[in-house]
Amino acid sequence: MMRAIKVPYLKHSELDHAAAELLRKYSEWKGSPARPPIDVDEIVEGYLGLDFEVANLREYLGMPDVLGATWLEDGVVRVDESLEGKDGRFAFTVAHEIGHWVLHRPVIEMEKVTLPLFSSKPDAEPKPAIVCRAQARKQPAEWQADQFAARVLMPASDVRAVAHALHGDGPLELAGLDAGREARLLIPELRSAADGIIADGNFNNVSNEAMCYRLLDLGLVADINRPQRSLF
Ligand SMILES: [Zn+2]
Repeated sequence: MMRAIKVPYLKHSELDHAAAELLRKYSEWKGSPARPPIDVDEIVEGYLGLDFEVANLREYLGMPDVLGATWLEDGVVRVDESLEGKDGRFAFTVAHEIGHWVLHRPVIEMEKVTLPLFSSKPDAEPKPAIVCRAQARKQPAEWQADQFAARVLMPASDVRAVAHALHGDGPLELAGLDAGREARLLIPELRSAADGIIADGNFNNVSNEAMCYRLLDLGLVADINRPQRSLF
């Protein structure tokens, strides 16, 4: 049976700090500031020095919804080949695995958490691995890795700078934003704002959906009726 990794609660500010620290150290290693599009493959293979492969994980692990996996002891990160060519989803999954490496590897090493065993090479001894599946998105460890990925691929300062250049100082006000959120829909106006930020900020490896959520999280979009509402 799959076991969820137990991880300590992390505040948004702690996730901000962890992602910013990674980008700072990666920039130092690289010798120049990390700017979008953030080269997550280079972070894995170059800065972190891990093995990185695209593989048929669905067949290899026998899971139809696996996206990526990280073998902690071997230092191997694999992304499922079905994501190849899907720039936004591929880079997000790589950044998500980096999130596990940065946020969760120390926790697991300290607490000897039991993880599912999978050999990282055929005929090798089974080793513990973190396996990331589409259906597990709501588990705390998976949520944290997603949050970390968003912060690495879309650094707050870069997104804010582009948003301010395009829309001025305040949040971009959109009609129907709150109603859309209540209906769990990304409204077309939000999607087109996200496209504008992606194009102007060179966020070439970020999906429209991921940028929509980042704009909402950073408060860079607001419902056009919200300020009036607060008067009553
Ligand atoms: Zn994961």
